[in-house]
Amino acid sequence: MATGAEVLIVGAGPAGIATAIAASQRGLRVTVADARRPPIDKPCGEGLLPEGVSALRQLGIWLDSSVAFPIAGLRFSDEASSACGRITRGAAFGLRRNVLHDLLVRRAVALGVSFRWGTRVTELNSDHARLDGVLFPFHWLVGADGQRSIVRKLSGLGPRRVRSARFGFRCHFAVTPWSEFVEVYWGEHCQIYVTPTGPDEICLAVLTSDPQMRVAHALKHFPSVARRLDDACRSSEETGCQTVLEFPRSMARGNVALVGDASFTIDGITGQGMSLAFQQALRLGDALASEDLGPYRAAHREMMQEPVRMARLLLLLDRQAWLRRKALRMFSANPKLFSRLISSHANCPKPAPIRAGEMFDLGWQVLRA
Ligand SMILES: Cc1cc2nc3c(=O)[nH]c(=O)nc-3n(C[C@H](O)[C@H](O)[C@H](O)COP(=O)(O)OP(=O)(O)OC[C@H]3O[C@@H](n4cnc5c(N)ncnc54)[C@H](O)[C@@H]3O)c2cc1C
Repeated sequence: MATGAEVLIVGAGPAGIATAIAASQRGLRVTVADARRPPIDKPCGEGLLPEGVSALRQLGIWLDSSVAFPIAGLRFSDEASSACGRITRGAAFGLRRNVLHDLLVRRAVALGVSFRWGTRVTELNSDHARLDGVLFPFHWLVGADGQRSIVRKLSGLGPRRVRSARFGFRCHFAVTPWSEFVEVYWGEHCQIYVTPTGPDEICLAVLTSDPQMRVAHALKHFPSVARRLDDACRSSEETGCQTVLEFPRSMARGNVALVGDASFTIDGITGQGMSLAFQQALRLGDALASEDLGPYRAAHREMMQEPVRMARLLLLLDRQAWLRRKALRMFSANPKLFSRLISSHANCPKPAPIRAGEMFDLGWQVLRA
């Protein structure tokens, strides 16, 4: 294959570049094509959970406080209650998407991955894609092209089952972070979550079902947060996109595999999308090197079970104000329980999963709160 690649990856977001790194670490020749050019940014809460940090290490990228802001855990607050859970196993960080993108690209280039920037893939068959008008042969094709994946569509792996669709907006403020936690503020029409991304900057993301809501509008519902930002300048443009919970019918078939949001999209409120993408990339790298996508399919299915449960729980709290108030009141009164929930979501390695009996007990305590 003189001008082609063993692996062609469409999409150079976190999932695509991580897969490129994993595949080249295993000796494969990889080309990545992206319609955009670096630095590539995207609306995101910009928190990276310990599983993501650990997967990044396996890809050869070590985060520390010189490039990212260490995160101690998560705090949920509403107008009446507040509960905080510490991350006790593994490290979590907040960092700008463009900083992360730069780290990923540098690592991939060092491993010999070749990039085709500004190249939108619009035509595919089972062994060729059209790149800049020229046919480009491949042995494996990876769709890492996000929520609206063209690879998924053209290779017959879609459509997906949509369970929930909301909107996410984010911008940065030049202000000293007021907390070492990711602060999630719950309100009637939206959630705001604030991630420290540096010693003088926070990322503020709004998640809502209201397509008209923007950051300034959302802040009116959270006067305590608005007051902290009164004198702070915005340090980035406000950008937004849809955030969905979408299930795939399949994430691999023949010589095509999907990874990251192209394979399965999870609502931004979980703060888990990139961590999952990095873990998937490692498993996909193994599968490509062993010429068998079966183990990737199985690992992907298993990996998504707990995050889907968590996304459903959080989306339920978004929809049902009475339940959310009760849950936050109960978590606030019972910090150990909240820490347990957070550690099953965020820690790495994970503790034993919450058993059915414990879930029942949890539900009962919420109803009584
Ligand atoms: C509001 C919000 C907050 C979030 N907060 C967090 C968080 O705090 N932590 C976390 O881990 N996750 C978070 N997420 C999720 C996270 O942003 C995604 O899971 C992550 O971006 C997925 O990466 P990806 O590489 O799969 O897709 P993307 O980042 O969407 O990258 C896809 C790439 O494919 C390229 N592309 C698309 N089509 C083509 C084509 N035809 N040809 C060539 N290139 C193409 C695009 O240009 C893009 O660069 C959040 C999401 C939202 C919406």
